[in-house]
Amino acid sequence: MSRVYNFSAGPSCLPEEVLKACADEMLDYKGTGQSVMEMSHRSKDYKPIIEDCEKRVRKLMNVPDNYSVLFLQGGASTQFAMVPLNLGIKKGKAAYINTGIWSNKAIKEAKRYIDVDVIASSEDKNFSYIPKVEKISGDYDYVYVCFNNTIKGTHYEYIPDTGDIPLVADISSCILSEPLDVSKFALLFAGAQKNLAPAGVTLVIIRNDLITDEPLKGTPTMLKYKTHADEGSMFNTPPCYTIYVMGKVLEWIEKNGGAEGMAKRNREKAELLYNYLDNSSVYHATVEKGSRSLMNVPFLTKETDAEKADAINKKFVAEAAACGLVNLAGHRTVGGMRASIYNAMPVEGVKKLIEFMDKFAKENF
Ligand SMILES: *Cc1c(COP(=O)(O)O)cnc(C)c1O
Repeated sequence: MSRVYNFSAGPSCLPEEVLKACADEMLDYKGTGQSVMEMSHRSKDYKPIIEDCEKRVRKLMNVPDNYSVLFLQGGASTQFAMVPLNLGIKKGKAAYINTGIWSNKAIKEAKRYIDVDVIASSEDKNFSYIPKVEKISGDYDYVYVCFNNTIKGTHYEYIPDTGDIPLVADISSCILSEPLDVSKFALLFAGAQKNLAPAGVTLVIIRNDLITDEPLKGTPTMLKYKTHADEGSMFNTPPCYTIYVMGKVLEWIEKNGGAEGMAKRNREKAELLYNYLDNSSVYHATVEKGSRSLMNVPFLTKETDAEKADAINKKFVAEAAACGLVNLAGHRTVGGMRASIYNAMPVEGVKKLIEFMDKFAKENF
């Protein structure tokens, strides 16, 4: 068996240990004679699995007691609607910071239900930086940020000060990549398929005073946080197997030093790659220093002719794949290449990538 280094932005690589543990338990979970895939979500065998997963989230992220942890479906994208529907109820207005595609989608969706003020944007430089926003005030129900922009490779190095206004953050592509002070946020959410599990579950961490029984008129039952909070994420069938895998990934994170251990490992990987890019005469990073993601690293070559650049990028991606380094194509809005180096990517993967980049540069430039 040979496994590749997978640099996909999501779904993305999972720790090998976790995959093996899942394989070992596939046919017979702890003597039950069944796979977790086959279990009733209300059975006595499944209950400890979801409870354990929630406990691990709370412990690893230091979630204060006045917050609920929910396991929802519909992907992170469904949160783009649930957030305004449930939180945009007093003033009917929210502030958004626009840092690229994922915040743009959230803005577009929120505008269907409430008024939106885009209070800052990095669109002027193709979203290659995070705007520095001083204290935010105003008549807003909440302030919304996308904490790590998966596509552009930008990441907040500060938490915006919103005073008493609830702060909401999409942390899909940076959850548990480093310590984060949950108490500074009113609501955090993350689609699982970047750093937590296979696709299929969205983790929501919400301060209890924001869980309302009266969201905007017409809000479907399934899109009310209260529906899920009241029933321990069991109002309907949760994505049982994905939650089970998430529990195993969280166990792996814990064994490897928790959020701090992940940060150490992620900083080492990111430093290797950014240092290489910053010192290269062939490649360069697209994101400004001070806004760089530890998780998603887009880069270009020095080829400036669009057609030639396209050809050289394709060659890079194909030859890298032949060397077992897969999914390195950049997003079409950035071009070039992108290496997503989530928690589960080992340091060796990044070292192999740099070796390949060096060889490719010598052969082609
Ligand atoms: C991937 C991603 C999403 C979309 O997630 P889905 O689960 O596909 O809806 C939203 N926000 C960010 C930051 C992402 O990386």
